[in-house]
Amino acid sequence: MINSVLVVAAHPDDEVLGCGATMARHVAEGSRVTVLLMAVGVGAREPPDRAKELAARHAAARRACGELGVTELTLLAYPDNRMDQVALLDIVQDIEKLIGACQPDAVYTHHAGDVNIDHRRVHDAVVAACRPQPGFCVRQLLFFETPSSTEWRPSASFPPFAPDWFVDVSGYLPQKLAALAAYGDEMRAFPHPRSAEAVTHLAGWRGATVGVVAAEAFELGRAII
Ligand SMILES: [Zn+2]
Repeated sequence: MINSVLVVAAHPDDEVLGCGATMARHVAEGSRVTVLLMAVGVGAREPPDRAKELAARHAAARRACGELGVTELTLLAYPDNRMDQVALLDIVQDIEKLIGACQPDAVYTHHAGDVNIDHRRVHDAVVAACRPQPGFCVRQLLFFETPSSTEWRPSASFPPFAPDWFVDVSGYLPQKLAALAAYGDEMRAFPHPRSAEAVTHLAGWRGATVGVVAAEAFELGRAII
């Protein structure tokens, strides 16, 4: 039984793209789900437009969590697309703090090879924060794919995403799509990979890969049973 789940993502919307339906399923099965979003998620606009956009993104993140039934949301303000300029230790310590607070059995985060630098930085920080020291709570560490970042990394440039862990989300895709709709301005028109159609196609293909109607796919980082 997974009692507590922590999802660590770089930008508002990554968490839904990567594992939104899985979160909805965890909530339905009685797990406590906590979402940590590390970076501001808005462009380099000047204040006061920047503050306004930031408030809108945060409101969207809360709405998206609401669609999934997630009540625990922490928003940090690391610089968007510049997390490589921040000391890794600072990022690790923020994640460790939340792990200490919510004691997750399972942690979900970005794939190591995404195009986006913040995704890779968050991946590295989560791996560091999840060092399996004696008595450590995390039993499952899983890496998700983020449409328009994971598949845009050429396979010769980094080991490609090779899922080996599939979550049957056949009943939960509508919640994922509703959560993505909360991020309206971040979604694009098909055939962009960050469109409702492409997300639906991907869930269908990941599902078909393992004989279910819809799935979210992950790479297993580590399991301790
Ligand atoms: Zn992102």
